[in-house]
Amino acid sequence: MSSYRAPLSDMGFVMNELAGLAQVATLPGYEDATPDTVAVILEEASRFATDVLDPLNVPGDREGAKRLADGSVKTPEGFKAAYEKFIAGGWNGVNKPAAYGGQHLPQLVAAAIEEMWHAANMAFDLCPLLTQGAIDAIELCGSDEQKARFLPPMVAGTWTGTMNLTEPQAGSDLAAVKMRAVPQGDGTYKLYGQKIFITYGEHDFTENIIHLVLARTPNAPDGVKGISLFLVPKYLVSADGSLGERNDVQCVSLEHKLGIHASPTAVMAYGDHGGAVGYLVGDENRGLESMFIMMNQARFSVGMEGVGLSERAYQRAVAYARERVQGRPAGIERQAKSATIIEHPDIRRMLMTMRAYTEAMRALGYVTAAAIDNARHAREAADRAQHQAFVDLMIPIVKGWCTETAQEVTYLGVQVHGGMGFIEETGAAQYYRDARIVTIYEGTTGIQANDLVGRKTVRDAGATAQRVAAQIDRVAAHLASHGDPALNAIGVRLAAATAALQTAIDWVLATYAANSRTALAGSVPYLKLWGIVCGGWQMARAAKVAVDKLAQGEGDPTFMRAKIATARYYAESLLPQADGYAQAVVGGSASTLALTAEQF
Ligand SMILES: Cc1cc2nc3c(=O)[nH]c(=O)nc-3n(C[C@H](O)[C@H](O)[C@H](O)COP(=O)(O)OP(=O)(O)OC[C@H]3O[C@@H](n4cnc5c(N)ncnc54)[C@H](O)[C@@H]3O)c2cc1C
Repeated sequence: MSSYRAPLSDMGFVMNELAGLAQVATLPGYEDATPDTVAVILEEASRFATDVLDPLNVPGDREGAKRLADGSVKTPEGFKAAYEKFIAGGWNGVNKPAAYGGQHLPQLVAAAIEEMWHAANMAFDLCPLLTQGAIDAIELCGSDEQKARFLPPMVAGTWTGTMNLTEPQAGSDLAAVKMRAVPQGDGTYKLYGQKIFITYGEHDFTENIIHLVLARTPNAPDGVKGISLFLVPKYLVSADGSLGERNDVQCVSLEHKLGIHASPTAVMAYGDHGGAVGYLVGDENRGLESMFIMMNQARFSVGMEGVGLSERAYQRAVAYARERVQGRPAGIERQAKSATIIEHPDIRRMLMTMRAYTEAMRALGYVTAAAIDNARHAREAADRAQHQAFVDLMIPIVKGWCTETAQEVTYLGVQVHGGMGFIEETGAAQYYRDARIVTIYEGTTGIQANDLVGRKTVRDAGATAQRVAAQIDRVAAHLASHGDPALNAIGVRLAAATAALQTAIDWVLATYAANSRTALAGSVPYLKLWGIVCGGWQMARAAKVAVDKLAQGEGDPTFMRAKIATARYYAESLLPQADGYAQAVVGGSASTLALTAEQF
């Protein structure tokens, strides 16, 4: 089986040429993130991904995480040692503040690094991923005392973090959360109730686990306005940071899942033996706002899981297509009787589709990451606000589109293998199974699409959506009138796709106020339309850079030619879907709702 190799050339190209690493490195605090330094860091990360994480991916899937009789959880052989190496290498805190021991690198750099972890071993990386979100929530909403006590070990990774939202009756709808938090009169609370599906809720990597838990205080208002956020450590922590008694929180079982077997997904019981001690994070009844801070980071990261898994599936498929000998490829009859399947036109179609989607998703993810850096650190408030508006629009697209597209890419990865794709030993099936969760957790695609329509398009009367669509249109118009035939072909198709997007934006804005139900019936095609057009936008920008570099004799000409060909394939074979999605939004939403519930 081939091993994972981080696509450093494409990562570097996207970071430097599309996401603007040099500009990000001018932001206050990021001066050390020069392209040369970042290239060294990425090389180092790629070695860790290839040498340490990738070899554990298949055995971890086969062995799975196990709950032992005493309630402890054993991760698969080698995972704990890999985690120890991971934190010893400082990888846990790459983009976290130096004040808590982090390396304070830009989100842009962290995005490229985390793509490697997701690709090499997604089940492993879920633990750091959830810890990152918990760190962000404590940093932004916690008290100074909480930050001082909990953040240094969490940033170092000697303690991990979890996110406890889901209960049996409260999944997408967090208004239904029932867990109780009772004030004890000394500033602490006792928590009672059950949380389900908690990723790395229990494990053997570290001595302590810091659970962030949504619960209701007595007499809290109903719905989301009565939810508060609590910090509940597995072991209580004294003022000097030393560990005290075991808290009343237990893993009562682990779920049996379709994929990510090495990642323990726990049912957690709070307060079965007198109450789990918890500390309020932020203000009472404003827990959902704090949790959203965590979720935005986590949603972005789950989008990047889609990118990482797609890259891994693509690499695996290419390796197999180069090895497998089968049939006589059309048009190459004079060659030997049979050839490797990479010579078949339909295998080329599948590999090009996988490659083009993956490069487009990567570009969109990194460009969004650079906008996150600017939204946090740009010098002018107006700049920060404009970048934040872009990020807010992009988060549901990166999460929703990159994860939905990963389904198609990992599906094609299996298809390229033929029957061997269905057999576990090639590894292609694992990527397909592991990918299936990414459209579900951190908010399903339906929830992302509702967010894109309601909060991100309609709330500001389409201002941000129109601004971004106009920006894409300017790129399209520039390329459509370009003398280079490839850029011209890309520009013409991008212009058509952007026109389709603009039609759909106008329809959503016009329809939502009068009939939000009809507008939401088209929300997932609307999200996919945004995704496919934004991917086309980034590929068009990439093609333009590559054409210019070739003309100036800069960079690796083989890479640049491949980039232009891949961008052109995206524009000619994938981007035309935009029109179909726009038609589904505008013309199909009413018939989506045509049957009564009884008629199904
Ligand atoms: C492996 C795994 C790990 C997880 N890790 C965590 C974790 O660490 N912490 C945590 O708190 N949770 C975690 N979850 C839970 C996960 O976030 C939820 O499963 C997810 O949010 C969906 O909730 P649900 O399963 O209750 O589905 P439901 O909410 O019941 O949704 C069922 C269907 O209805 C649709 N739907 C529901 N409401 C709407 C709506 N308003 N509009 C349109 N469609 C709607 C959904 O899109 C979906 O298709 C995990 C789940 C799994 C499987």
